[in-house]
Amino acid sequence: MATAITCEKKIFRNFPGILENIVKLIIKRNQTFKNFLSRPAGRRRPSEAGGWWARRPAWLRRAGGSVLAGLLLGLALFVWWWRRHPVEPVRLTDLRPLVVIDAGHGGIDGGTQGFGVLEKRVALATALRTSRELRQRGVRTALTRETDVALTLEDRVRFTNERNAAPLSAIHCNFSVEAPAVRGVETFYSDPKDLSAEAAIAATLGVAAGDPAVAAASTSLADAVRAAIATRAETPDRGTRNRPELAVTRRTRCPAVLVECAYLSNRADAARAATPEWQAALARGLADGVEAWLARQKGD
Ligand SMILES: [Zn+2]
Repeated sequence: MATAITCEKKIFRNFPGILENIVKLIIKRNQTFKNFLSRPAGRRRPSEAGGWWARRPAWLRRAGGSVLAGLLLGLALFVWWWRRHPVEPVRLTDLRPLVVIDAGHGGIDGGTQGFGVLEKRVALATALRTSRELRQRGVRTALTRETDVALTLEDRVRFTNERNAAPLSAIHCNFSVEAPAVRGVETFYSDPKDLSAEAAIAATLGVAAGDPAVAAASTSLADAVRAAIATRAETPDRGTRNRPELAVTRRTRCPAVLVECAYLSNRADAARAATPEWQAALARGLADGVEAWLARQKGD
């Protein structure tokens, strides 16, 4: 099952306030600096008279410290932006975009379980098969985990964002306490995503923030994956669903889906989820969906 998170980075929330204080400080300093610059040459200390400063161009003489203060502010903003965005946003039209595949849970976190089947094992086996399937088709992939290790949600989000993934596919298993008869595949996405994630996707698509195309990129990925799995794997198609609270789909700076590939609370689903045949069918479906979606992004 997928875990929800609600926290935002404090610094991001407080940023407008921090920026306001910086600007106030610069304006205050700037006044002092301007006063210093506007002193006549004769009143300056001997070391200040003459030299390049006395021969400074007229525009600099007029603008005084404002230019320098502006440059400093620009530099500070650039450094702040650079640290938040260490990598360029990926172009979905790139020839070989990277697909990140995230096997849910792992290590001490087994996820859900039913009828002796453990979610983390199904997730890893299916993720490995999906990656292999995509690589055979010439699509680059990266797995958040390839062995039975524990990862935090933060680890998974950072992994995806640092690698400039084009889309992310997370793989999990479902569980229903109330309805053990329920079975099938469900595909989740997040709309809206975090602001920084939406901004990155908007940049990728070359549209303004808030453009409907940003949300459409995630929903179209979910639709493509859902449709392809329904074709490849004989399982009830439970459709796509918006789950804005899911960390990996909400905070990743690329369109992202989370596939709940079986109900371990259902005996038939659990038994089948553990078989290599079914995992292979699901992996082929997932790969089909991602490949079709990538092709559409490139305008093939
Ligand atoms: Zn899970």
